[in-house]
Amino acid sequence: MSGHLAVIGLGPGDASCLTPEANAALTKADAVYGYATYLERVPARANQARHASDNREESERAAAALKHASLGARVAIVSGGDPGVFAMAAAVCEEIEAGPENLRALDVTIVPGITAMLAVAARIGAPLGHDFCVLSLSDNLKPWERIERRLDAAATAGFVMALYNPVSRARPWQFGAAIKRLRCHLPPATPVVFGRAVTRQSEQISVVTLERAEAVEADMATLVIVGSRETRVIARPGKLPLVYTPRAAAEVSA
Ligand code: SAH
Repeated sequence: MSGHLAVIGLGPGDASCLTPEANAALTKADAVYGYATYLERVPARANQARHASDNREESERAAAALKHASLGARVAIVSGGDPGVFAMAAAVCEEIEAGPENLRALDVTIVPGITAMLAVAARIGAPLGHDFCVLSLSDNLKPWERIERRLDAAATAGFVMALYNPVSRARPWQFGAAIKRLRCHLPPATPVVFGRAVTRQSEQISVVTLERAEAVEADMATLVIVGSRETRVIARPGKLPLVYTPRAAAEVSA
């Protein structure tokens, strides 16, 4: 089969964060599929078709792109950040597994991108300098009870946490509930970093304590990093603090 599908990470927003590999893969595509907001970041090219779809339509988008590629075209699907982190690469794999046998013969390339967690961490110091874990707070595709169990486990195991999808219009209460849950395990002074629209024009970074975390407005473009008991804040005059988690951990932390 001569078709090809590239699943491409566009990075957190600014064009400077697009990798040369991603740029080259975009240049080669006959057609580009993606959520409309992400497609806007891809410069229009002559002879390259664009198929924009809604945020929620990931399975349909993956199936359409696979079908198109199976007809022999070079097709790209774009994701914000990295395509393997709560994004299109898994949706494509799901469709290949469930779909017709011929999809397995297709040439598929996943092109990594800078994920939001790394872009936010880099802005504020080194909060991910020691063991950390990553959770999506979206309960669209998993039950809320499972998210609560994972928050409890991560906090009690001493992981720093990167929280994707903290809030959306359809999920207004989940972030507040997660913060309340974390307060049962972590000290009130635990640092919490909010990185909003990082590398885009409306970027905002703030650092508060777990005690004050709900005072900061999180939205769909916000990534939240919750520190561990080891995470430290270095105040600096006239600058954002440096938030970091030292490389060495003390005794077993509660
Ligand atoms: N594949 C993407 C994540 C998609 S889930 C990645 O690797 O980054 C969407 C969530 O990612 C958002 O709700 C937000 O939590 C986070 N996010 C994406 N871009 C961001 C940015 N520029 N700044 C802060 N958070 C971002």
